[in-house]
Amino acid sequence: MQSFQPDIATNLHAVRERIRVAAAAAGRDPARVTLIAASKTKPAGLVRAAHAAGATDFGENYLQEALPKIAELADLALTWHFIGRIQSNKTADIARHFDWVHTVDREGIAARLSHARSAAGNTPLQVCLQVNVDADPDKAGLAPHAVADTAQRLADLPGLQLRGLMTILALDGNPAASFESVAELFAGLKPAMGGSWDTLSMGMTQDMAAAIHAGATHVRVGTAIFGARERP
Ligand SMILES: *Cc1c(COP(=O)(O)O)cnc(C)c1O
Repeated sequence: MQSFQPDIATNLHAVRERIRVAAAAAGRDPARVTLIAASKTKPAGLVRAAHAAGATDFGENYLQEALPKIAELADLALTWHFIGRIQSNKTADIARHFDWVHTVDREGIAARLSHARSAAGNTPLQVCLQVNVDADPDKAGLAPHAVADTAQRLADLPGLQLRGLMTILALDGNPAASFESVAELFAGLKPAMGGSWDTLSMGMTQDMAAAIHAGATHVRVGTAIFGARERP
């Protein structure tokens, strides 16, 4: 029996068009918005199809699902972003197999990633701090008032390059206001953090236009590319 295959190329084209329109409306260059295809729960074959249609950056949430996919797709030049919750016993594998981690929200996790990445002798792991801007009890992330301190303490850890902030909004909030508030936090830290502080990872299928309007440099889009997920 053949299962339904979404038309990845058509979907990807439509998402790129949404990014283009949102960037134009905000007076921004769409080339400054990196699309991360959130491929959690989707098989390696669909990632391969997305790559064939031009996607280069992929986001994964669950390590045990991601590792075999990354191995299976090692023949492609892909950039892998870890966008899920980080369990401390998974930091070594995350540090070894991913290029980016968007979901660092405590020093202990950052220290473990730093240690593992340094030991592996790789280029630095690119890191964003996750901010729980809506104080959503169901979401991970630093409280906004804790971000500046944490960023400064993590800035010099070997093997990590701090790039900016990431957020996932509450379902019932005000996306425009929340994204603007993360963007302000990000901009306020720029003088202290320097030139590599250049990443605002925010916006998903439902709210990418508002995120781009507020200055997102990376949007993480799953459903609009791969179709609905059967499990969360
Ligand atoms: C699944 C996921 C996305 C993509 O969500 P969609 O609504 O399917 O676009 C983005 N960011 C994170 C952290 C996710 O877990």
